[in-house]
Amino acid sequence: MKIMPNRMDRGFFKYQKEFENKALAVLRSGWYVLGKEVSSFEEEFASYVGTKYCVGLASGLDALWIAFRLLHIGAGDEVIVQGNTYIASVMGITMNSATPVFVEPDEHYGMDPLEIEKNITSKTKAVLVTHLYGMASRMDEIVAICKKHKLRLVEDCAQSHGAKFNNTMTGSFGDIGCFSFYPSKNLGAFGEGGAITTNDEGIAKACKVFRNYGSQKRYYNEVVGTNSRLDELQAGLLRVRLSHLQDLTEERVKLAQRYDEGINNPIIKKPVLANGATGVWHQYVISCEARERLIDYLNDKEIGTIIHYPVPPHLQECYQYLGHQKGDYPITEKIANIVLSIPMYNGMTDEEQDYVINAINDFR
Ligand SMILES: *Cc1c(COP(=O)(O)O)cnc(C)c1O
Repeated sequence: MKIMPNRMDRGFFKYQKEFENKALAVLRSGWYVLGKEVSSFEEEFASYVGTKYCVGLASGLDALWIAFRLLHIGAGDEVIVQGNTYIASVMGITMNSATPVFVEPDEHYGMDPLEIEKNITSKTKAVLVTHLYGMASRMDEIVAICKKHKLRLVEDCAQSHGAKFNNTMTGSFGDIGCFSFYPSKNLGAFGEGGAITTNDEGIAKACKVFRNYGSQKRYYNEVVGTNSRLDELQAGLLRVRLSHLQDLTEERVKLAQRYDEGINNPIIKKPVLANGATGVWHQYVISCEARERLIDYLNDKEIGTIIHYPVPPHLQECYQYLGHQKGDYPITEKIANIVLSIPMYNGMTDEEQDYVINAINDFR
């Protein structure tokens, strides 16, 4: 049986008619950028996350760099970020000429609150938390530390739509929550998309101006902004997906439970949520010291896997200028060497999943 790491077609066909009807309605409306679909999506997503405002943008990366721009974080400022995040989190910081200060993650692949306090300097302005793999970080401790030290808090929720800590949605804890709607994300568009969420009216207003060339009134520009508009087609399709997100998330939680219960190979480690955290299982990430052999073995059985991520940001070529070396972040580097994302997608059948579970359990 051939099993791919992700199947975005399944998520489409599940609600095919609804998606197609919405796409046709937008095409026929004659209005394609910043219209009713975008403003309705913004309202509905803010309500879903539990923030007062949501502003649609063109991508998750845009949400990140615009977030730091709106918080006036730039040259000479430091932002504390976990070392095992996706490159976009870090680029959101460095695109503003601010300096990322990497810290080691906790055993749940999330931000370690103890590491934040150890790394605060007079230049520290903000903390960026990534709820990696869709597992919420320990937000009670993190929020308390940010309050105590008067640090801004930004959440990278590109993988965590719907994940909660102590019953509160990720994306509503900090000054700004940053979301991506890249097609493979839990709330995926059919192209590019992103958004910020916030309770700060000033930030929401400034973001709406910034995303549209710094203009509120057409052809009058208040600030040097950018073009980062969520388009009507994507917003409309996202509204369809959002209306089913609860079900889609529950389906992923069930899949994760089946993996938790089914995988019992002593040389495979399964992911563990922090106390108080929920997961929406953007990825189901196991770890194994013999990872390369495991990948080959699964490949032979036509089971596709992905490494999220093989090279941590501090060792990427693009960040050589930061001056980090191999060995600087042993936990982060170890994670990059042993993690493996196994197939996880809406529409995965029990038969497909059992095939994966049995293959993993038979690995020696
Ligand atoms: C996908 C992702 C992003 C970037 O989102 P894009 O929409 O691809 O720009 C940022 N951070 C994390 C953790 C992601 O997974």
